Amino acid sequence: MRYNARGGDGETGGLRCLFVDLFEYQARDLLASHGVPVLPGGVAETPEEAEAIAREIAQPVVVKAQVKVGGRGKAGGVKLADNPEDARARAQDILGLDIKGHITHRVMVAQASDIAEEYYFSYLLDRSNRTFLAMASVAGGMDIEEVAATRPDELAKVPIDATVGVDEAKATEIVDAANFPAEVRDQVIAIAVQLWEVFSKEDATLVEVNPLAKAPDGTVLALDAKVTLDGNAEFRQPEHAALEDAASADPLEAAAKEKDLNYVKLEGEVGIIGNGAGLVMSTLDVVAYAGEEFGGVKPANFLDIGGGASAEVMGNGLHIILSDPAVKSVFVNVFGGITSCDAVANGIVSALQHLGDEATKPLVVRLDGNNVEEGRRILAEANHPLVTVVDTMDGAARRAAELAAA
Ligand code: GDP
Ligand code: MN
Repeated sequence: MRYNARGGDGETGGLRCLFVDLFEYQARDLLASHGVPVLPGGVAETPEEAEAIAREIAQPVVVKAQVKVGGRGKAGGVKLADNPEDARARAQDILGLDIKGHITHRVMVAQASDIAEEYYFSYLLDRSNRTFLAMASVAGGMDIEEVAATRPDELAKVPIDATVGVDEAKATEIVDAANFPAEVRDQVIAIAVQLWEVFSKEDATLVEVNPLAKAPDGTVLALDAKVTLDGNAEFRQPEHAALEDAASADPLEAAAKEKDLNYVKLEGEVGIIGNGAGLVMSTLDVVAYAGEEFGGVKPANFLDIGGGASAEVMGNGLHIILSDPAVKSVFVNVFGGITSCDAVANGIVSALQHLGDEATKPLVVRLDGNNVEEGRRILAEANHPLVTVVDTMDGAARRAAELAAA
């Protein structure tokens, strides 16, 4: 997703999306709502959910990684499954898969189709020619980029007049320019008109179907869908807000989820790490209160590293928080219980060692509870240039807010 900083709205100083790339399952639902033939299915975050969806639809099914990058098929992110148990196993394989740097958090489970032929069809905003463009090919499937590069004559390109759009006559022109076979011609013409309806009525800048597949019985279906919405049109597309929210799950939250960390991104500048949800909640309040004195500095996140608070968990937590560009200072607020303060202090020291140059922002540490004297001694002895130890929670919050405002 690309962002457009929108200045002066005062409320959040917020970022608005200029373009919104949808996940395949969202794009597929949009296509279906305009009558484009797709196969039934649903989206799952766990293998169990994937199995449950597979039970509701006809077998076999296809399990597909929901990541916003092409080439999922070649990367092992698209697998067929013969039955619900198999769908669960394939989902297990695909969830967590790294596809070109995109971690898979969701899979779509859809009824699968046998494929006789794979075609390609898209509409896009052609900026360099200041027009809309239809592209279509009977050589679709996974290698359309190669077709475009090596056999460009097999990829038809037809400019679309924005004031006219795609009616049946224009659709026929596109379909014939791409030499679609006679037995699918009428179906593809109808789909071309429907896809234009998606493109124009939904204010998209890209609608791409690859493959547009012919099943052995001759039926033409959209088996993949890619849609980019134009964020500048959001004022007249109120129902797109929910799509945008689902499409833009925060990358830091995603990275935290990977590490099993209980993390929520907030709007402020003071990174927060604490153990126990209650302590972290009150830390947020104390920091927000202290921040008022320093021009309205606020907590940047919620992060509960739980009872264990091991060096590894502390390191993972610090890594996430320090990679947030909004963070200016970090407040580590730990109450030693089962894990005593000396273990927490050692955790902080080794996490900082491990992070090395990555640790660039000041840390304010407040330790209390079990074995607190030893914990403070360890931090004092390590004498890390970025670490300030403050004994009280209020004092530490104030110091962290002050550092964030500096
Ligand atoms: P992409 O690689 O990210 O573009 O993902 P696609 O959704 O296009 O899937 C990749 C390939 O998987 C397609 O080109 C098809 O060959 C195959 N595929 C996708 N859905 C089905 C299906 O329902 N049945 C079969 N047999 N193959 C499918
Ligand atoms: Mn595809």
